[in-house]
Amino acid sequence: MRYHDLSEMNFNISKRQEKFLSKVDNASKLLREYEEECYLKGRINDRVVPVFKNIGMLGCPISTIYGGLGYDFLTYCLALERIGEEGSSVRTFLSAHISIGQLVLQGWANEAQKKEYLPHTTRGESIMAFALTEPNAGSDPSSMEMVFEEKSDHYVLNGRKHWVGNGTIADLLTTYAKERNSKDGRGNGRISSFIVDKDCQGIRRKEIKNKMGLLTVKNAELLFRNCIIPKKNLLGLKGQGLSIAYSALIDGRLSVAAGAIGVIKDCLAESIRYSKIRTQHGGLLGKKQLIQDHLAKMVVSLESSKWLVYRAAITRQHLHDYVENFKKDNMDWQLKLNKSDKKYIRLRNQADRISTISKFYASNCALDAANRSVQIFGSAGYTKKSRVARHFLDSRAITIYEGANEVLALKIGSQSLGNDFKAY
Ligand SMILES: Cc1cc2nc3c(=O)[nH]c(=O)nc-3n(C[C@H](O)[C@H](O)[C@H](O)COP(=O)(O)OP(=O)(O)OC[C@H]3O[C@@H](n4cnc5c(N)ncnc54)[C@H](O)[C@@H]3O)c2cc1C
Repeated sequence: MRYHDLSEMNFNISKRQEKFLSKVDNASKLLREYEEECYLKGRINDRVVPVFKNIGMLGCPISTIYGGLGYDFLTYCLALERIGEEGSSVRTFLSAHISIGQLVLQGWANEAQKKEYLPHTTRGESIMAFALTEPNAGSDPSSMEMVFEEKSDHYVLNGRKHWVGNGTIADLLTTYAKERNSKDGRGNGRISSFIVDKDCQGIRRKEIKNKMGLLTVKNAELLFRNCIIPKKNLLGLKGQGLSIAYSALIDGRLSVAAGAIGVIKDCLAESIRYSKIRTQHGGLLGKKQLIQDHLAKMVVSLESSKWLVYRAAITRQHLHDYVENFKKDNMDWQLKLNKSDKKYIRLRNQADRISTISKFYASNCALDAANRSVQIFGSAGYTKKSRVARHFLDSRAITIYEGANEVLALKIGSQSLGNDFKAY
């Protein structure tokens, strides 16, 4: 598998991008204290939307046509990296709203759907979510049990999704279901994707309680019972649902990887600060070689994760640019892009591969960095009030969601062997 020529990659940012990132930095600082307070109380951070709305972050990579800022994927990732320093909860909120929320619509919705739904989301009036996982279909979404039936002017959805990030508050989400076979009544048809808005009848939400981390963002179980979806809310073509879900995961993984860099950065900064003030055995912790070994490992994780994630962001940008140009020239782009366009398939595979590698690597590094920093803090790190403890508990989730890391390892391994070696 060939990557883009590295000489095509430019990680320099303009004055305009720099200015935006400094707004993200200020907004993150503004949220810091309240985020810690909400975490200790285990309640949703209700200032995230107003604070990020003010600087346009809620539509950072979305086209200006739909009220976004139209930034490239590198800028978006650098913003998530900064936000990740404040903990993975806030970043998770944004991943669900933007990466596996808005970007799914931007990539796959028709013009009428984009005009109807996206502007509300970039203004923060409508919060997005992505509902794919089910109790019996986690790592293998193709085994999902949720079904839909096609009626004259609508679809009827029945089934259950769980762990949906932002699911308790979302106004808009995409979900995925198999067509029910009219002869035997079983859901064994191809998977399609639907835009579900909060006014659709027949959906019940229940918050998932007692999570071990990510306490200021909420997850929900969603029960669809004879839920009516108007025909206009089919996303993409009928039967294209799994491709849509998998392309959403490219963006989801990239966002997790970018946020993970922030986690490593903050753990490193906290560990350096503490090693310079804590004295044991007659000297500062920072002067002990084993403590320096912990710090060195974090530094290496930070630098190597950045390199991977920034490359992944540029690779994803190449895919985006190609798709947007293709759409302009082809009315039937959905059909053509998926089936027969070789360049699209190559760019998509490249983006998929490097975002998978980035997420696998950076999330493992973040968990490792958080673990090491709790160790450096000793008992001072073993309290919920410690930033590094929060990173530790939050980071446990990032090796599980957007593709559990075992499954990503299989994806990376089998891709390097070839099509006959798919191991999952
Ligand atoms: C905090 C959080 C937020 C989430 N947010 C969302 C969301 O917004 N939307 C959404 O749709 N879902 C969401 N999820 C669900 C998440 O995507 C799934 O948890 C994940 O895909 C794994 O599925 P599972 O939990 O059913 O685990 P399983 O698939 O049951 O896997 C259990 C373990 O087995 C391993 N495993 C599975 N298959 C194989 C294999 N073939 N070989 C070796 N090992 C294997 C896995 O790696 C894992 O370690 C979220 C989950 C969490 C924890």
